[in-house]
Amino acid sequence: AKEGGRDNCMIYNSEMEVKAHQNLLIQNELRYAIERQQLSLVYQPIVDAQGKLTGAEALLRWQHPQQGNISPADFIPVAEGSGLISEIGHWVILEVCRFIREQQARGIGVPKIAINLSARQFNQPEFVERLIALLKAQGIATDALELELTEYALLTNLCIMNTRIDLLRKAGISVAIDDFGTGYSSLSYLQNLPLSRLKIDASFVQKIGSGRSADAIVKAIIEMAHSLELKVVAEGVETAQQRAFLNQLGCDNFQGYLFSQPLPEVEFAALLRPPRRK
Ligand code: C2E
Ligand code: CA
Ligand code: CA
Ligand code: CA
Repeated sequence: AKEGGRDNCMIYNSEMEVKAHQNLLIQNELRYAIERQQLSLVYQPIVDAQGKLTGAEALLRWQHPQQGNISPADFIPVAEGSGLISEIGHWVILEVCRFIREQQARGIGVPKIAINLSARQFNQPEFVERLIALLKAQGIATDALELELTEYALLTNLCIMNTRIDLLRKAGISVAIDDFGTGYSSLSYLQNLPLSRLKIDASFVQKIGSGRSADAIVKAIIEMAHSLELKVVAEGVETAQQRAFLNQLGCDNFQGYLFSQPLPEVEFAALLRPPRRK
């Protein structure tokens, strides 16, 4: 056991070194990623209880020439730390607008696209006003987008948050709370903020069927959300069993590998075209 412990410790240290090295690389090269056109978006379909497409979540990808695909889970935190997140986040919004416009120009309607916003980006002064102005300038209807905020992003002054989200909602932009259950849960904001949707974190979904308490938590989250008039999206749905359980509880929308991986723009766009008649 001692041997194993030491080995684990060594593995851990070398893993930490790799991680530290990668963080440095990310810091140095992320700033060029936009201009070098290394960033792209993929779109993961979101479906209803019948499995029909109702929307999608836009997710960032960084294709590094030497390092290959770097996960947003690795580079978003670095971007947040260095302040680059605002520039990247702005690029994401423009990119989604371009996609929607291009489809519209071909007469194809795009379902609601959810965009992840980091706390830092959302908390920029005038973010909401500038977003509304940008959508108008881009000719995009405000209800084409949904913003996903984590509990962490909402963890500032409740009164300020309320004003901002209310402004968004009045403009037609809905707000979802992302990764629900993993953050600094204070249930008061759920009650006090004009949110539209709650996304149950994948970690809960993946525990469905593993025991009574795991199932009870998912059930409680859905019931609570519904009683607050929030729609519920389950993330990370991978099995038919998870889907069936969620369906039975009245979960509104589903996202996960069971339905689709996140898709490159062209593949996602292909789903929007009605199938050709033979
Ligand atoms: P998230 O917002 O919770 O996004 C869901 C993540 O779950 C995505 O990981 C998605 O690819 C993954 N996923 C989807 N279905 C399944 C499934 O069935 N099983 C499993 N195990 N995973 C599934 P991804 O794309 O690696 O993104 C990781 C995180 O990076 C996101 O988590 C989000 O927090 C952040 N992120 C991604 N794009 C952006 C962005 O444009 N802006 C900001 N601020 N953050 C972003
Ligand atoms: Ca999300
Ligand atoms: Ca999430
Ligand atoms: Ca997550």
